[in-house]
Amino acid sequence: MILWTSENEGHTRRVLREAESITPDDASEPADESPVLVPLQDHDQGIGALFVPHAVQGEVTHNGIALPAGFHILKHADQFVYDNRRFWVAVKVQVESESYQPDVHGQDQFCFVTKARLEEGEEILNCPGRPGAPCVAVYRRAVWEKALAANPQFRCPGCGFDPNGGDWEPPTRRARNLQRSFDLAEEHSA
Ligand SMILES: [Zn+2]
Repeated sequence: MILWTSENEGHTRRVLREAESITPDDASEPADESPVLVPLQDHDQGIGALFVPHAVQGEVTHNGIALPAGFHILKHADQFVYDNRRFWVAVKVQVESESYQPDVHGQDQFCFVTKARLEEGEEILNCPGRPGAPCVAVYRRAVWEKALAANPQFRCPGCGFDPNGGDWEPPTRRARNLQRSFDLAEEHSA
């Protein structure tokens, strides 16, 4: 999972590995009274859990709504605001290579592009899919790399995943200002 933060409309990118405490800028509050972001391994429900301690309940807003104390599930591209900073969470695109093992991956698996039967022990890639569009495509690593080298526009035929697309990024400043107007309107109408 990637955590983006925005202060004064600039943005910095951070890679989140383990649970991370979202501490205020001035560090006036002890770390254990700060919200904590925990990446989730299984993305079925969401990509991360945001824990809001009692000490700061109501101080974290998610899509303009103040969060009560407790755990809150965040989805890809969700944003929240705390301590005058805006945060976004996003999935990290990872295409991992592994060795094909029929016991693990299932018997009679075929390369999604060439339709060739996979041989035990050969290097394969599992398509990471796109957020909200999981993909079951498996490729021979050599085929995937050849396809990419021959055509930089190559997309997974199964789900449209773009290997050159890079990671999700927060909306532009203009779109962000628009979102802020919506948030304010929401707060005022609440
Ligand atoms: Zn795919």
